[in-house]
Amino acid sequence: MLNLNFHPAGRHQLQIPGPSPVPDRLLRAMSYPTIDHRGPEFGRLGLTVLEGLKKIFQTQHPVVIYPASGTGAWEAALVNTLSPGDTVLMYETGQFASLWRKLAQRLGLQTELVALAGTCAKTGLPNSWRFGVQADLIETRLRADSAHTIRAVCVVHNETSTGVTSDIAAVRRAIDAAKHPALLLVDTISGLAAADYRHDEWGVDVTISGSQKGLMLPPGISFNAVSPKALAASQKARLPKAFWAWDDIIDMNRSGYWPYTPNTNLLYALAESLDMILGEGLPEVFARHQRLAAACRAAVSAWGLEIQCADSAVYSPVLTGVVLPQGFDADAVRQLIYARFNMSLGTGLGQLKGRMFRIGHLGECNDLSLLSALAGCEMGLRLAGVPLSGSGVQAAMDLLQASAEPQARYP
Ligand code: PLP
Repeated sequence: MLNLNFHPAGRHQLQIPGPSPVPDRLLRAMSYPTIDHRGPEFGRLGLTVLEGLKKIFQTQHPVVIYPASGTGAWEAALVNTLSPGDTVLMYETGQFASLWRKLAQRLGLQTELVALAGTCAKTGLPNSWRFGVQADLIETRLRADSAHTIRAVCVVHNETSTGVTSDIAAVRRAIDAAKHPALLLVDTISGLAAADYRHDEWGVDVTISGSQKGLMLPPGISFNAVSPKALAASQKARLPKAFWAWDDIIDMNRSGYWPYTPNTNLLYALAESLDMILGEGLPEVFARHQRLAAACRAAVSAWGLEIQCADSAVYSPVLTGVVLPQGFDADAVRQLIYARFNMSLGTGLGQLKGRMFRIGHLGECNDLSLLSALAGCEMGLRLAGVPLSGSGVQAAMDLLQASAEPQARYP
């Protein structure tokens, strides 16, 4: 049975790539009394979060909020835009792209996979899980589809299983270059509010996201940002939907309400999170994530270990995947770090199980919390006997110290 009395001194260091640590400000907001979801205060809260979210997704168009995890928002994107038997082109970048494909198949869609071929000679890992989306492969496939049977292209913006991002604007250009009418559906469940993301400018039709990553909320709400083209497609889409249907939700959202009981207390936290993120400024939030990610990678390089992402142009600002040398079990190292230093790191998922662990550096993370995470990793790696070529903590300190600026709040 779960021992709820287990309470080691100090904070547990939650360093997984989501759920990310929830700031105290959000936890306090969530403890406000639950109010009438048909009352006047609620309408104001609803309008506030719906407007604020548009700024985060960088869209002028509706953002739908679901009381569901990200998987629900994946399903919502598909059932609102597609019909039984439709073909969707899904790009393989890692475990989450694979899971989305499985979900699409369960809904009765025909899925066609595009993936980068080959394996990395050094690590034996598949190239498709080490590089971002190659937009030219999508363009070639769409050009060959002269009958336009492909109805949607699905890609993951920040692949949480690998720490690789993808160039979404390039995917849009590929679709346009092929003069193909397919919708562009993008999962940025772990990228939103951490990695630069522009729904309108990049011509995305449906963006899927979740609460428990860059927005710093607990798990429990997720999103669809919807373009006018996707909204038009939803009028004709015939996959069965009721709870996920955009029309009733968007209609009632105009006055700040929902057709069902929304997740009131998570919406309090969302209002607080939007205030924090927009108050800091989106460019500043992205730059902060890039800087911490660079410090984390400096540490991995100083250890002499391999970063899962093999293309420096698409390193994730959200997490870093650390590949262990052959013969070392990454999960055993993670468990050792958990037991000795009270820190959770992300496990290797799917084909990467046991080969790598993931360090999350998103949301409520700063120079010192990252350094303490890296110190935990360094000690754990040494205890596990993994040969290291130098101190990653020192390398990260050097980078952070050289680029440290006074915090805006404490001039
Ligand atoms: N897509 C990505 C990129 C994710 O990182 C996750 C979860 O980590 C999901 C989809 C699934 O979301 P959820 O676990 O909230 O259902």
